[in-house]
Amino acid sequence: MKSQKFQVLLEHFPDYINSVLQKDAKTKNFYQCPFCGSGTHGAHSTGALAVDFAKRTWYCHSCGENGGMLDLCMKLEHLPNRKEAFKSLCNIYLPDDNKIPIRPVPAPPDQPVGTTAGPAEDTVDYVDYFRSCFRNMNKGGYQYLASRGIPARLADGFGIGFDPRWEHPKNASKSKHYYTPRLIIPLGKHAYLARDTRKKQKKQFSKMKCGQLQDYFFGQKAIENSFCFFVVEGEFDCLSLYAVGAPAVALGSIARINRFVEKLVKTKPKGTCLIALDNDEAGKDATRKLASECRKHGIRYRLVSSVSGSYKDPNEYLMKAPDEFKQKMQQFLYNLHKGAAVRRL
Ligand SMILES: [Zn+2]
Repeated sequence: MKSQKFQVLLEHFPDYINSVLQKDAKTKNFYQCPFCGSGTHGAHSTGALAVDFAKRTWYCHSCGENGGMLDLCMKLEHLPNRKEAFKSLCNIYLPDDNKIPIRPVPAPPDQPVGTTAGPAEDTVDYVDYFRSCFRNMNKGGYQYLASRGIPARLADGFGIGFDPRWEHPKNASKSKHYYTPRLIIPLGKHAYLARDTRKKQKKQFSKMKCGQLQDYFFGQKAIENSFCFFVVEGEFDCLSLYAVGAPAVALGSIARINRFVEKLVKTKPKGTCLIALDNDEAGKDATRKLASECRKHGIRYRLVSSVSGSYKDPNEYLMKAPDEFKQKMQQFLYNLHKGAAVRRL
């Protein structure tokens, strides 16, 4: 028997659909699919996600993802089960008679001995903000990502969101406001990268980091990959490598090389560290440092200079020659695998 609350929630099905999905311009009751990106690949692409408003279900004819209201919420917000999705939806649609707390945020890990006790004053928890940005992806986020060759599904996995009216937190109290549309890339719970999505923009403000990064590195799960992981500088380089099936972690900035070395030494990766930093002076310095630390701590590493081919960076490679990029990276990983197999003989 379905609860009364659930029945009330289901009445909001159309609202919910239209707030999280983007309608297909050509076909009635069809939407762009946030999971496979159908309908987001330009003027001739058709959204394949069909919504049955009578049955309150949805089904993507392209990738096969399907379900009801709770399934959609669960998948979009990466919640572990329907119960959590139910809570999340109640918070949106039944906030008054429902004091169910938002998904509890785990307590931050204990501060290491020797650092300042407790979080710094400007440590802000952005989790709720990330969740609301995540729901806004259809308002321009996926479009921007598509223009840079990054699949929607990949971005969803990183919890990337969109804020159509982003303002720098430090500016919020001032009388003159300055809003820009931004892709919001979470960097842990306490920091994010806000990437301007407009075509013309002042370069020095196009990428803004907000909050306390602490020892978080975008894509850091890759370090635990038992076979290999690339180390690159930018978040989009990292995403571009993931897009062709290569695990990668981003420094975010070359200035964070010391922090990264600490992290690496602490994590003791089992896979090969593939150092693919930029080819400028700062990048070369960081490469030397990282390589020397790897040697010192017995971490297997390799310098990879050709990850961008003749292009500026991996993202440009992905955008201009996606097939070649993919082929090249897969060949590289295959050779690495083969080398590892030979070593084991
Ligand atoms: Zn789909």
